[in-house]
Amino acid sequence: MSREQAQSILKIIESRGFRAYLVGGCVRDLLLGREPEDWDIASAARPEQIMEIFGAAAFPTGLKHGTVTVKAADGAYEITTFRTDGSYSDGRHPDAVKFAQTIEEDLARRDLTINAMALDSAGHMVDPFDGAGDLKRRIVRCVGDARERFREDALRILRAMRFASVLDFSVEDATSRAIHSQAGLLERIAAERILVEMDKLLCGLGCRDVLLAYPDVLGIFIPELLPCVGFEQQNVHHCYDIYTHTVYAADAIPPEPILRWTMLLHDIGKVNTFTVDPKGQGHFYGYPKVSGDMAEEICDRLRMRKKDREDIVTLIRWHDKNIPITEKGIGSAVLALGEENFRRLLQVKRADNLAQAPEYRWVSEKVDAAEKLLDEMLRREPCLQLKDLAVNGNDLLALGYSGREIGLALQRLLREVVTGEIENRREALLAALKR
Ligand code: ATP
Ligand code: MG
Repeated sequence: MSREQAQSILKIIESRGFRAYLVGGCVRDLLLGREPEDWDIASAARPEQIMEIFGAAAFPTGLKHGTVTVKAADGAYEITTFRTDGSYSDGRHPDAVKFAQTIEEDLARRDLTINAMALDSAGHMVDPFDGAGDLKRRIVRCVGDARERFREDALRILRAMRFASVLDFSVEDATSRAIHSQAGLLERIAAERILVEMDKLLCGLGCRDVLLAYPDVLGIFIPELLPCVGFEQQNVHHCYDIYTHTVYAADAIPPEPILRWTMLLHDIGKVNTFTVDPKGQGHFYGYPKVSGDMAEEICDRLRMRKKDREDIVTLIRWHDKNIPITEKGIGSAVLALGEENFRRLLQVKRADNLAQAPEYRWVSEKVDAAEKLLDEMLRREPCLQLKDLAVNGNDLLALGYSGREIGLALQRLLREVVTGEIENRREALLAALKR
């Protein structure tokens, strides 16, 4: 996909007598100097006219919404007829899509001012809501009355928060108040759509400020977070309440959805396990397991992929375990978790620690040391799975092993190889078996 290709599509449509514009996200990204992900086009031509203009290259992918996809040499371009959305009685879908005559009407139905700009092939900008000004001021603001726009489509609440996070913008006052006052409407929105926005929101540069400002919104689909807000831990390791710590920890880990979700949920079981000892210290005995169980339910509710859910739950259950920085300690953790999740676990530990009281922030050095040792171990012996062992089931059969014994013996060998007790050489392994 490229600007040149999009430009030539605009010109083809214009040459047939219809207005056509680049619109929405790509115009925003162009003004920000970022490479747009997709190049959406809006045009006065009706879908059947676009079908006719582009012939075999045109596919009716969303006729209900007036969208035709045109396949060009370098990718697919969506061309949507100018439209106004009718009323939204269910807070999710417009009751009817009405085609419109002008780009201005089309821009008025869009969610945010920064997403409601259009650019024609001559470079002329249509920007009735001063989206360009808001981009300069770094502000997320609804087109029109924020409360009404959120009532029409509650997903816009999360979209506003997502763009504030990704672009690291602040949220204009009236829009922010409407986010709080209309948050409850998100109950009507499908989990799948919430998850798409949340993944992006969590990975945004400005996620810390957005998460701190809107726990009430997250609480609509993750009510388990609400008791964490303002919950003082009464523990020397912690200088923040649980929710603030959670947010700082999420902000401190690399922006990948699995890692960010893990941090958002890692302490969610603390409130339910809280006790205070006679000296007045707070404790949370067994909370990683409880957090893991709660996270499992939350991930299911949000319809996360099974593998993602499993990784998140595993990381949460392990996040507070002490892993000795020895070949044995690291070797057994890698065996239990796999290399990818073990490396993620180290990131989790680092981020968790960075969000604790400053005088307890020494874990980072331990994590560095663990990473270094793991790399050394892998350089010497990149054997982490049964299939990498220098012997296999047939060797064991030949030595007289049978049935379940074979698997158990292979597991034992693997553990000894990973922890540095035997070398992964055939003779060494066979000798160990004979012993
Ligand atoms: P991204 O980089 O995530 O693709 P985008 O701005 O292109 O950002 P899309 O979800 O692809 O976002 O939507 C394209 C355009 O459609 C938006 O820029 C916006 O103008 C409009 N839009 C999308 N969702 C809504 C909505 N829920 N309500 C109103 N307008 C919307
Ligand atoms: Mg887009």
